[in-house]
Amino acid sequence: MESSDLITKGAILQRDKESYAIIPRTPAGILTPELLKKIACAAEEFKIPVLKIVSGQRIAMVGVKKEDIEEIWRFLGTDSGQAIGLCFHYVQACPGNSLCKYGVQDSIGLALELEKKYYGTEFPAKMKIGVSGCTICCSESYLRDIGIVGKKSGWTLSLGGNSGSNPRIGNVIVQKLTEEELFTIIDKFLTYYIKYAKKKERTSKFIKRIGIDEVRKNLGLPF
Ligand code: SF4
Repeated sequence: MESSDLITKGAILQRDKESYAIIPRTPAGILTPELLKKIACAAEEFKIPVLKIVSGQRIAMVGVKKEDIEEIWRFLGTDSGQAIGLCFHYVQACPGNSLCKYGVQDSIGLALELEKKYYGTEFPAKMKIGVSGCTICCSESYLRDIGIVGKKSGWTLSLGGNSGSNPRIGNVIVQKLTEEELFTIIDKFLTYYIKYAKKKERTSKFIKRIGIDEVRKNLGLPF
């Protein structure tokens, strides 16, 4: 396989410059017993030395031989979680009101909808989304490109958050949203971002460059 094919297959070259890591898609961090069994079996079958839970609520299979990558994906029967490249990476979700006693909104349900909608979409840079079911914000929503926090009155949306070497807390852009309103504004913002951002410009840098007031104006939101 060429290196571009490997990227398409979600494979990441490791420090040893020989082996790869692959990360099965686990939307909203939800795992089934079947997928867990398959990951464990694949690790044994293909002698994968390390299984590591990484950020974004995913399991990285680390130390995979190049020639095994396609076969492992076939064995797992799952899409690759896109872990590299200029595209949608993941939606991180807390347990929300379906599981957590503090939850006031359904973060898992929303995260699954968002993941379904944006999985496979190319963006100017990495795209990460965090959804928290209450203001305790266990999914670190304000440090994600798209940050969503549930309150009793509806969803709060922040844009342009980032962790990493240049951390930035996202701008709270609008509150008390229904799910439908939330999707409409996210769609508008992402269309705008895709059109005007430079290549590899994360939303944090894009918003700093454009200015949050300009973003609000383009989204048709009050100041
Ligand atoms: S953010 Fe709130 S709902 Fe989600 S896990 Fe934390 S405490 Fe529970």
